[in-house]
Amino acid sequence: MRMSRLFLRTLRDDPADAEVPSHRLLVRAGYVRRVAPGIYSWLPLGLKVLGKVEQIVREEMDAIGSQEVRFPALLPREPYDASGRWTDYGPNIFRLKDRKENDYLLGPTHEEMFTLLVKDLCSSYKDLPLHLYQIQTKYRDEARPRAGILRGREFVMKDSYSFDVDDAGLEKSYQAYREAYIRIFDRLGFEYVIVQATSGAMGGSASEEFLAVAETGEDTFVRSPGGYAANVEAVSTVAPDPVPFDDAPAAHAEKTPDTPTIDTLVDHLNEQFPRDDRPWTAADTLKNVLVILEHPDGTREPLAIGVPGDREVDAKRLEAQVSPAEVHAFEEKDFAAHPALVKGYIGPAVLGTESDSGIRYLLDPRVVEGTRWVTGANVEGSHVIDLVAGRDFTADGTIEAAEVRAGDPAPDGSGPLELARGIEMGHIFQLGRKYAEALGLQVLDENGKLVTVTMGSYGVGVSRAVAAVVENTYDELGIVWPRELAPYDVHLVATGKDEAVFTAADQLYDELVASGVEVLYDDRPKVSPGVKFKDAELLGMPTIVVVGKGLADGVVEVKDRATGERSDVPVAQVAEHVR
Ligand code: ATP
Ligand code: MG
Ligand code: MG
Ligand code: MG
Repeated sequence: MRMSRLFLRTLRDDPADAEVPSHRLLVRAGYVRRVAPGIYSWLPLGLKVLGKVEQIVREEMDAIGSQEVRFPALLPREPYDASGRWTDYGPNIFRLKDRKENDYLLGPTHEEMFTLLVKDLCSSYKDLPLHLYQIQTKYRDEARPRAGILRGREFVMKDSYSFDVDDAGLEKSYQAYREAYIRIFDRLGFEYVIVQATSGAMGGSASEEFLAVAETGEDTFVRSPGGYAANVEAVSTVAPDPVPFDDAPAAHAEKTPDTPTIDTLVDHLNEQFPRDDRPWTAADTLKNVLVILEHPDGTREPLAIGVPGDREVDAKRLEAQVSPAEVHAFEEKDFAAHPALVKGYIGPAVLGTESDSGIRYLLDPRVVEGTRWVTGANVEGSHVIDLVAGRDFTADGTIEAAEVRAGDPAPDGSGPLELARGIEMGHIFQLGRKYAEALGLQVLDENGKLVTVTMGSYGVGVSRAVAAVVENTYDELGIVWPRELAPYDVHLVATGKDEAVFTAADQLYDELVASGVEVLYDDRPKVSPGVKFKDAELLGMPTIVVVGKGLADGVVEVKDRATGERSDVPVAQVAEHVR
């Protein structure tokens, strides 16, 4: 590709809204262009990288026998009603109506649709195990789409789904995806960790995340020298630090015979706070940390804080499900303006602080001084603990939360925990029978008996990976692509005004292309060498070849973008050298 013809304009200045390096660089280098918050166009160079990520993911999915399909993004409401997610997603999905006033949504993820497709076409255990995937555009009305394509409101995800007749089958499928994911993330070439995760809005049991290690990441995870690694949202038994209240009991009280169980909590909710549309079930509590508030006048209300694994859902889920309490995700600037708030994310058995998780929730102003946390349920798995019984709000309405600290012992005894941050790149879930039950996906087993199918779901953030790679490898000069993802292998630069230089560069370009090297050729006639070098560094191809003064001696300069190493190479040997 000749740069004189490439649809590209690099920018000297950072975009004003860019908060993370990948956002800044991908816009400046002309890979993507903003259309609206969290909505981006892919320009020629960006689209090439995206295609390369897709290809890696596709190859590894095909290799484990997963078959590619593609669903529409525009979906009818009914399947999402059946699973409960039309409501559960709150304002985090884009909803729309057709001309006949029927409800539709733009798919945030496709468990329901895959379940229905398999129900449509499969009826026997002989059809299973079945593995399907798609690489497709997803829509989520993210509360804070601030990091460019790292957190888009429209983004590309690879989502796959496994269908098995029994638990052993699901375990096997899960392991196959886990291993495929290891291969995918190895090939993408960034440092990553596999951490225990909570299954959050997805439901289900076992779940792990693949986090790219990055300071700018929004996820905080802990790891120990002995190999324990978990998203802080999923750490279940970290010893609490003393809470900063003189008379407060430990935030994570020991389980006692009086400690409510999920069942007692559900009974309590149904007695005290019956819902009009449907009764409370354990599933509601499994998705939330439920807390019962008692106001100064003695009235009580249930409050849910936190949907582990999908924070943006949290706040609005409360409005949707646990009315009348309202919780809003809020911005730093709002913090001081509101008297009653909980500083910190109250997640499954972790009262993380703002500094750790970057998440804060604002409580309804009705939660005033004197309001007590009557009971709280940690709803990960099946145990319930009293989170903060007795503890009162302070005069300014805040409670401080215990946090996981560096040096705390790992729950499995594998040493002291280290805290780090990461970007969630992939997430694998053993969903179990949640969706199959809700949508009636059953097959006949070997004995002719109808059994409910058990499922897994497995996501990779394909567009997010483009940005995550940049976060991982950029330097002060610009983007540094690993070879497998770079839009071009070689950035060939012709410098100066000398016609002989351009003739030689033209020839070299033809020769490299003919030998199968992907070349971006800066053949712009009236652009200064300084500008060309700056652009080459910003754009980030792995090898930069400069045709210039050295030509008199029959050499060109070959520079490695990542290491900065330069060497003079005879023109005739360049193709061999860069391959
Ligand atoms: P996050 O915690 O970052 O909001 P998630 O847990 O909501 O992500 P999943 O529902 O697990 O996301 O979706 C699977 C994958 O899709 C994630 O691991 C992530 O890589 C990617 N992804 C999710 N949301 C976005 C987004 N808004 N923009 C880009 N990629 C995303
Ligand atoms: Mg997540
Ligand atoms: Mg999310
Ligand atoms: Mg996730």
